[in-house]
Amino acid sequence: MDTGKGNPTEKKSFTGVENRFTEEKVRGTDSLVSYTRSNIEKCMCSQCPVQADSECAQNKLQSSGEVMKNLPEGEVPNPKDVPGIYCSTGKAICQDLNFDRECICGTCEVWKEYGLEELDPNNHFCQHGRAT
Ligand code: SF4
Ligand code: SF4
Repeated sequence: MDTGKGNPTEKKSFTGVENRFTEEKVRGTDSLVSYTRSNIEKCMCSQCPVQADSECAQNKLQSSGEVMKNLPEGEVPNPKDVPGIYCSTGKAICQDLNFDRECICGTCEVWKEYGLEELDPNNHFCQHGRAT
């Protein structure tokens, strides 16, 4: 789907591994934001108040951080294990998030690069689903 929401130059620098993984995991969807290592690293969800008291998200944050450290360069963890980049992967698996709290996506470079402010909804992707 052509959303007309910008054309991030970052897309051109994906590794083959990142591209394959993205195609496999997001195939058949119209996700706007690519599930790449660089986007995962830019994501601010790890610091978000919505997830701060979620035992599930905090556990995933710790374990996915360990996984990321040991993955070869450019490779990405299973999206189910990453408590973030919901604008790409969709709603949170963890059920103990507090959606009444403020979303901090507006502070994120991915949010700015992909022009997510132009979308509706443009926040709480963990609640509403991926950006399309
Ligand atoms: S826009 Fe929000 S969900 Fe997407 S990468 Fe940034 S902080 Fe994470
Ligand atoms: S999508 Fe927004 S509300 Fe959800 S965890 Fe990420 S920054 Fe917080």
